[in-house]
Amino acid sequence: MPAIRLDCTKCDRTHAPGAVLNLCQSCNAPLFARYDLEQARKTLRRDSLPGRERSMWRYHEVLPVEDPALRLSLGEGFTPLLPAPRLGERLGSRRVWVKDESGNPTGSFKARGLSAAVSMAKVLGARAVCLPSAGNAGSALAAYAARGGLEAHVFLPRDIATLFVMETRAYGAKVERVEGLITDAGRVCAGLAREHGWYECATLKEPYRVEGKKTMGYELAEQLDWTLPDVILYPTGGGTGLIGMWKAFEEMEAMGLIGSKRPRMVAVQAEGCAPIVKAHEEGRPDAPPWPNATTHAHGLRVPKALGDFLILRAVKQSGGVAVAVSEEEIVQGTKDLCATEGLFAAPEGGACVAALRKLLASGQVTPEESVVVFNTGTGFKYVENMAPLW
Ligand SMILES: *Cc1c(COP(=O)(O)O)cnc(C)c1O
Repeated sequence: MPAIRLDCTKCDRTHAPGAVLNLCQSCNAPLFARYDLEQARKTLRRDSLPGRERSMWRYHEVLPVEDPALRLSLGEGFTPLLPAPRLGERLGSRRVWVKDESGNPTGSFKARGLSAAVSMAKVLGARAVCLPSAGNAGSALAAYAARGGLEAHVFLPRDIATLFVMETRAYGAKVERVEGLITDAGRVCAGLAREHGWYECATLKEPYRVEGKKTMGYELAEQLDWTLPDVILYPTGGGTGLIGMWKAFEEMEAMGLIGSKRPRMVAVQAEGCAPIVKAHEEGRPDAPPWPNATTHAHGLRVPKALGDFLILRAVKQSGGVAVAVSEEEIVQGTKDLCATEGLFAAPEGGACVAALRKLLASGQVTPEESVVVFNTGTGFKYVENMAPLW
């Protein structure tokens, strides 16, 4: 069942699906795909899920590509939700789980969003796709483009680790390194996309990456037997996963899969790039660009997020908080996750562990509350980057 509408997230405008659309035609805000949930709930039931394929496409009623033959899939999603008692003991919490995204194709949860987005790009007739990336989105785009026989163009910051360039080129993509950060790469990418007619897959600039990432919300509910945890810690760059899960919870409640209880959403950022934390603390509805953004957790090095207002709204509505952690705390958090649970985690996952430690220390999370920490990628992709700090 494909999306029936694309709604603007800011104004009242709605758009018909089926055309190549980036942002709202009236106000340039991100668009959300809407489904006929009354129809979807007839087949997307708690008892219809066991036995379905073990990928994010098991929730196909609420994903944009109807025909399975048109899905570009490498088996993304349906990742393990691991109880983490030893990590919990070290941090002083009795009920911690790790949603471990490290086993996804291309080594990070970016695979979810790009499986959905590149599939839709192809359905809509695109021949070439492009995006700016801090690393993981670029390699995921390139992999799904290869799978679909599309041309891919990836724009990376100049100082990116060699591994990402090599991996992305290995999938056949054209890589351009741009002076500056992902936002600078984004400007170059957007200009060339207009000039050449490429389909732009920058996060939240097209409506389907968030659809792929929202499946993390469906998985949490299914894996926790249709309950949700008290707290979710999410390493926030563009915020696509946090925004997506918040959307998923709303859809699931509308379909009668869960009740109205929501987790407190915690947006975790690095001290060297914490625009959402600053905006949350100041009570702002949006987040001004962060100057001189720096962190070794490259997924968090996003000085300006297109969906900043959506992240801030979800954090606030959920009664959650935004937390910044230092580079030392990120390294310690990563080591904690590795040593206590046997997960060679990405520094973004380590950042969530560090944030949980802080929230337990301040009493904002209590030892009895159930907590899900996201490990969003594999540590193997960060060896070059993290070795000097380790
Ligand atoms: C991109 C990325 C993030 C941030 O994800 P958003 O949904 O864009 O906030 C976190 N961790 C890793 C490993 C990433 O690649």
